[in-house]
Amino acid sequence: MKDIDDLKAMNAQNLWHPMGHPGEMQKNAPTIIDTAEGVTITDIDGHTVVDAVGGLWCANLGYSNDVVKQAIADQLFKLPYYSAFAGTSNAPAIEASENIVNFFKPDGMARVFFTSGGSDSVDTAMRMARQYHRLRGQPQRTKFLSLKKGYHGTHFGGASVNGNNRFRIGYEPLLPGCFHLPSPYAYRNPFNETDPAKLAQLIAQAMEDEIIFQDASTIAAFIMEPIQGAGGVIVPDATLMPLLRDICTRHGILFIADEVICGFGRTGDWSGSRHWGVQPDMMTIAKGVTSAYFPVGACLFSEKMAEVFETNQSGEASIWHGYTYSAHPVGMAAVNACLSETVKADLKTNASERGTQLFEGVQKLMDEFDIIGNVRGGHGLMTGIELVNDRANKTPLDMADIKRIHKATYDAGTMVRIGGNNLLMSPPLTLTAADVDTILASLRTGLSAA
Ligand code: PMP
Repeated sequence: MKDIDDLKAMNAQNLWHPMGHPGEMQKNAPTIIDTAEGVTITDIDGHTVVDAVGGLWCANLGYSNDVVKQAIADQLFKLPYYSAFAGTSNAPAIEASENIVNFFKPDGMARVFFTSGGSDSVDTAMRMARQYHRLRGQPQRTKFLSLKKGYHGTHFGGASVNGNNRFRIGYEPLLPGCFHLPSPYAYRNPFNETDPAKLAQLIAQAMEDEIIFQDASTIAAFIMEPIQGAGGVIVPDATLMPLLRDICTRHGILFIADEVICGFGRTGDWSGSRHWGVQPDMMTIAKGVTSAYFPVGACLFSEKMAEVFETNQSGEASIWHGYTYSAHPVGMAAVNACLSETVKADLKTNASERGTQLFEGVQKLMDEFDIIGNVRGGHGLMTGIELVNDRANKTPLDMADIKRIHKATYDAGTMVRIGGNNLLMSPPLTLTAADVDTILASLRTGLSAA
């Protein structure tokens, strides 16, 4: 193992990091995280902080769940890998499929297809949507609708329905036939509508309008996050998801709930769809499915979709899609252990209680700091703080100031994430009330550094 000075010297010299400028990162090297315990992480210089990022919206169980670690280790020794392509399976995969389907039964899910992460799962959903319509004699249903500000990963399909141009422009042209509706972002929107319920109505009207314009018979699916995460923790009005679900049903458009962040308790319910009382046709999951102890994702399907695939006698219903690591036995062992630990700890209830505490605490900080333009959250452990130079004009705070706040918050004891001009928080769902106090105290110190 290299010593600390060697590691620092080589930091970002050979490694291109996701979502970073490679040249810039060579000059301003990233923090090297060395160890983790409970809800804290410790960097290579020995500085320990509360991880208010939860890894990347994913370390739901925190970093010290020995049951999950042991299950992974045991499986590594028993069967480290075998393919699940047609012809072979493995015991943990069979068990995981039953566990996952049962977990999402209240959401109307009936079958599962495993992947290696969220982007894989989104692309799986998009491909399966097209195949579903083809099997039903509507091969012309190929288009996709989604919301601006949505994040659906970085594969070509996911990037095409992604609602933030940062992930799109450098990689265009993307998939043709993808169209975007306004985000339920009450703080800024083209309608200048600050009432979330009225905004939901306007988005529903925009969807109807777009469907008429495209012709419903050409649209395969609509995808949305129940709460937009990476886009800035954008919480829609409770009416939005049911409204859009209803429109999709009326027009024969499949509804995909991207639950990669929202699933497994983060919103205060076991799924974001359940939080808003919606049953989608497909769900994409990742992150909390293994609490990040092993990379796993999945796409889930309703009974209606299962029936179309399973009863079709032609070869056209074969799934010519999949990944080497689909249903990876070690990943599946992680899923099984993680799911039972997640339920046993009732993470959703803690997410709801601590989420409210964090949200209310941050709202109070608004009284102290004019640079807080908008605070979003209040539905589980997802909180966003939008930083502005000027509250009246809502001018985004300069990035140099945001970086200074980020560093000062870290030095004061908490890791938060920068997303545009927002500070984003999605801590482990095992967080305690005292941890929330630490986060709030660090934020106060950090914000004072602007
Ligand atoms: N969908 C959503 C809602 C996400 O938040 C993410 C990742 N943050 C993805 C998809 C992509 O997942 P991954 O990074 O595992 O490919």
